[in-house]
Amino acid sequence: MSVAFFSGAKSFKEQWPLISQRLDQVIDEGRFTNGPAVQELEKALEVFTGAKHCIAVGNATDALIIMLRAAGIGVGDEVIVPCYSFFASASSIALVGATPVFCDIDAATYMIDVNQIEEKITPRTRAIMPVHLFTQLADMTAIHKIAQKHELLVLEDSAEAISMFHDGQHAGLIGDAGVISFFPTKTLGAIGDAGLVLTNNDDIAKQARQLRIHGQEESVPYIHQIVGFNSKMDDVQASILLVRLQFLQKEIARRAYLAASYDAELRDIPQVQTPVIRERGDESANAVYYVYLIETEDRDGLVDYLTQQGIGTEVYYPHPLHTQPCFKHLGYKQGDMPHAERASSRAVGLPMYPDVTDEQLAEVCGHIRQYFQKGEQ
Ligand SMILES: *Cc1c(COP(=O)(O)O)cnc(C)c1O
Repeated sequence: MSVAFFSGAKSFKEQWPLISQRLDQVIDEGRFTNGPAVQELEKALEVFTGAKHCIAVGNATDALIIMLRAAGIGVGDEVIVPCYSFFASASSIALVGATPVFCDIDAATYMIDVNQIEEKITPRTRAIMPVHLFTQLADMTAIHKIAQKHELLVLEDSAEAISMFHDGQHAGLIGDAGVISFFPTKTLGAIGDAGLVLTNNDDIAKQARQLRIHGQEESVPYIHQIVGFNSKMDDVQASILLVRLQFLQKEIARRAYLAASYDAELRDIPQVQTPVIRERGDESANAVYYVYLIETEDRDGLVDYLTQQGIGTEVYYPHPLHTQPCFKHLGYKQGDMPHAERASSRAVGLPMYPDVTDEQLAEVCGHIRQYFQKGEQ
């Protein structure tokens, strides 16, 4: 039995009758970008997250760029960001003309190591960008304290963090602004690219709305207050997301069940480290399994073996951001970020999506067990 690293085919087929109705509506309306379905999705996500403003854009990389620009980050500014993340966390900072200042991660949770933030602050620092990676939020209480003390903005890369809360605040609203990605593999996925800026800040929201559509106010076309982008969401994607939003809590519950099953199956394999969820003593805090990441010394051997057995995996992330060729001029070197570098050689994501069946999960775990037993003989 093969198990794909990601597939949404089964869920998609089940949801298709509802989706196709919505798509008919889009065709009838004839508004295909930033149209009625997009506005309806923005409203629905404002209700879901509790955000004062949700601004739909083309993808979450654009959302990060637009968020940074809307918050006034630009040339000469520095933004502190963890070096263990998807590339866009750092590229968005570089693309607005600012400098990413990399910070190592906490080895157990993969979140920015809050004990290393203060030593990275310089007179040019304008913001901290925590990344909420894989299953849980960064330590927002500690980050807030540092930001307040040094008068910094907190701009969250909450691309993976839909339905994650801190003290009752949805990810992206704990700081000054955040983003959500609807890339197909994400917890709430479209069938193409789509993203969101979310904020309770009126000024950031107003700027973000202009920036997504060439810097013009939506009600005053062809007058460009600022130089903006073209990053609108398609109504087709918004329609799909509106339907899938109704199934989100059920799908997150399925993810939690799969994570608990992986934990139970893998915990007693000495070579495998299962995910560590930080206790936060916060009732509204909840792990949401976007990715189920394990660590093992012999990661590459395990990946090869699983590939031969037809089991899909994904290495998150094989190269920490401070080692990327495009950031060479920033002067970091191998060895600067030991925790991130160690994780990049040991971590691997296993199949984690609502369509994974109990049998498939047992198959994945069986092969992992077999691989390490073989190694012991
Ligand atoms: C997916 C992701 C992004 C980018 O989202 P896109 O919608 O693919 O542009 C940014 N940051 C993190 C942490 C992500 O996981």
